[in-house]
This record gives sequence, structure tokens and C-alpha cells, in this order.
Amino acid sequence: MTGNDLLKQIPSVDKLLTHEDLADVLEKFGRRRTTRIVQHYLAELREAVQTKSRKDIPPAGNIIADIALRLEADETVSPKRVINLTGTILHTNLGRASLPTSVMETVTAIATGASNLEFDLDTGARGDRDSHVEHLITELTGAEAATVVNNNAAAVLLCLNTLAEGKGVCVSRGELVEIGGSFRIPEVMTKSGCTLIEVGATNRTHLRDYENAIDDNTALLMKVHTSNYEIKGFTSDVGYEELAALSKSRSLPFLADLGSGTLINLEEIGLEHEPTVTEVLKAGVDAVTFSGDKLLGGPQAGIIAGSKSVIAAVKKNPLKRALRVDKMTVSALSEVLKLYRNPDVLLESLPTIKFLARSPSVIDEMASRLLPSFQQSVGAAATARAVPAFSQIGSGALPLDTLPSTAIEISPARSGERELQRIFTAFRQLPTPVIGRLQDGRILFDVRTVDDPGELKQQLESLSLE
Ligand SMILES: *Cc1c(COP(=O)(O)O)cnc(C)c1O
Repeated sequence: MTGNDLLKQIPSVDKLLTHEDLADVLEKFGRRRTTRIVQHYLAELREAVQTKSRKDIPPAGNIIADIALRLEADETVSPKRVINLTGTILHTNLGRASLPTSVMETVTAIATGASNLEFDLDTGARGDRDSHVEHLITELTGAEAATVVNNNAAAVLLCLNTLAEGKGVCVSRGELVEIGGSFRIPEVMTKSGCTLIEVGATNRTHLRDYENAIDDNTALLMKVHTSNYEIKGFTSDVGYEELAALSKSRSLPFLADLGSGTLINLEEIGLEHEPTVTEVLKAGVDAVTFSGDKLLGGPQAGIIAGSKSVIAAVKKNPLKRALRVDKMTVSALSEVLKLYRNPDVLLESLPTIKFLARSPSVIDEMASRLLPSFQQSVGAAATARAVPAFSQIGSGALPLDTLPSTAIEISPARSGERELQRIFTAFRQLPTPVIGRLQDGRILFDVRTVDDPGELKQQLESLSLE
């Protein structure tokens, strides 16, 4: 059959749209969308015939079945829920902190109706969306005042622009960090309208370096948490207290970008000490910025806590309006902060802290209980074993501190990269994808971040390696 004969066999859009098999599809997806997909499908078919990659035309019934599948596939939820067993607790690509269901119940109620987001119920006058969280932040950190924006990058941008637009900002050369995804201190400085004054050397910065760097155009001293790396060896930096004293003596404000910013003493859950927001404020910093969805374990947000005068200036900046958070964030952040009022239940109620604090023995026990499900899921294609592993906090918190954990290791029966990738991919293609990591020719699923063993087992049951 010639190409032209084949083209003539392709059914018309009208013929397909009036086909009885398409009636249900039309009803479910509507005429407009169905027509678009039908047109698209037929155009592809025509092209396939013209380029000779197709030598027959499927019957109308098959075409309609294909079209129905396409429309269904287009309906899949996106982004979709996945199970994070990578070993990185706060995985930026997997959405960082998980929120508790109890928090989301409140958020749902707020999001699906009207709320007093900016409405004072006592006076009936206009209110302030920060009022729902400011008192919690000040209570938990000792700050005089606080405000919230879209994320910590926005918080830094806003503080710099408010405190030092057109002026110089002193930052140590050892703190000119790049946070994943193009957030670089020198570039944010430029975008904020400030001039970066580099202080000291990459590995060592002294108080006298700051003293010498300050000139008439300097408006701000800034310290940046070097979240995602550590300089080792012959190093020194200037602490918060010393810098705060210098800033006071020169009548300059002092800003600290803490990055992750923890509200609790991490030593209490067996980790290395990280300066808490409270400690940094106590040291004399005028404002501190930190993320809502890193160690805090809340929604994406950037929190600015500090003196009344700095926060008032920040709130007057028109950029604040452009960077403000929506009602779902305000509600989620408020509920998560409330959990911090009772540290005894925090370990149970907030997933991020629960995963961080999970003891190696508890993880090991969970691994033993999950092992049979993993072995069953891979069948004869691989061997599953529980092995010692290390988890990381992620998102730049304590980059070198790794937490002893247990992982389920999957070693393919057949060697080679292709087989490894095939099995790794199968887990990623489950209805609720299970995401692990590759290490030395094996797949590792770190058990530390398993939240719901039942959900995981159910997914494993539908793994198919045929
Ligand atoms: C993560 C981080 C940021 C950016 O915070 P986001 O909430 O991701 O915008 C800024 N500064 C430091 C030091 C960080 O670690």
C-alpha cells in the first residue's frame, strides 16, 4: 500500500468524535480537551505515515483506546507524593520538610474558606498577616519582633535591600557561599542594590579585618552561615559576639543569615551543636534570617527575627509586599511553631525532628521488619540485606555530620550498570515512587526516613521486575 492510500485510511476527527466508544471519554474529559487530543493524535499518525515509521493504520477502536489512555495519563497528580529513602532528611529536590497531618488539617480549613488572615476580629479593622506567627517566633527565639517572607533567599534579599541599599556590606571572604540552585551571596548582594565589601581571607578573617574594611559608605555587617561546606585546617573566623560589639561601636546594624536555623539545641537529640536562633540573637545580632523548611521542619518560608526597629523598616519596604507569604504558609508555619512550645511531644509530632532524633537501634529494628518485604519485591532478581549506612540532614545543615543509620541494600543478581539502573528505575516508577540512592554498585534505601511502614510495604508489593 502506498503512503497516500494509508493517509486516506486515517479516520477523520469527526468520525472519531462521534464514535460510540468515545462517548464515555467525551463525558469525562469534555469536548474541547478530547478534540484537542484527537487532533494531536491524528497529526502524529499522519506524520508517522509520511516519514514511513508507520506502515499500517490501527482500527478506530484502538485509536480511541490510546486517546483515552493519554487523557488519563494527563490527569495524574503532579507533583506526586514519593517515599524518600535517599538518606537525606531534608532533600531539596524532594520538597524538604514533611508537614504533620494534624497541621495540614488546619491548613485545609484555612485554604478552603475565608479566614481572618488580615482582619482583626476584635475591632473589625484591617489586620496584619504576620500577627499569626510573630508572637510565636518572638516567644520561641527571644526576638523583639519578627516577620515572614517566601523563603530565606527572599529574607536575605529583603534585609540587605532594607538595611544597605546603595551602600556597602562587610562579609568575610570565607562566607561568600553558594547555596544550591544559584543563590550566591555576591549575586544576591548586587540584586539587593548593595556593594559587597569582602573582608579577610578565605580561610582566616580577623576582627581587625572588619575594622579596616569599614568606611563611610558601609551600612551593614553581615555574617553568613557556611551551611553546605566547612573550611578545615588553618582557619579562624570572628564570632557573633565580637562582631556584634564592633557593629555597636560603629553604630552599624548586624545581620546574620543562619540558613537552616534551628530553634532547639541539637545536642539534646544527639547531634553536634549548631548555634540556635536564640543564641545568635542573644549574642547581639540585630536581625537573623532562616528557612522555614529546613531544620525548623515547617513550610517553605523565610523568617526574619530581630529588633523592633529593623523589623519595622523591613515591613515598610515595598519589596516585602512582593515577597509575602500566602495564607496556607501562614497557617502551616503557625501550627508548626506551636508544636515547639512543647518540646516533649516535638519528637513525635514533627517529622523532621522525629527523623533526626531516631536512634540507630530503632532504625535497625525497622529495617529488620521491612527486609522481608524488600526481598519479596525483588524476588530472584536481587538480594536484599540490612546494612549500616549514614544519613545526612541535607539542605546545608551540618554538612559534615552524618548520622549512623541502617539501609536496605539491594544487590542485583546479574552484574552490570544496566541491571542496576533497571531495578533502581522500577522502584521510582511505583504508583508512589520509592526513591533510594546508588552507592558502589548497590541500591540503598535508608530506613531512617520511613514514616509509614504500611504505605511502603504496600508499594513494594506492586514492584514488578519482569
Ligand atoms: C538554604 C540557605 C539559604 C536559602 O534558603 P531558602 O529557604 O532555600 O531560600 C540562604 N542562606 C543560607 C546560608 C542557606 O543555608
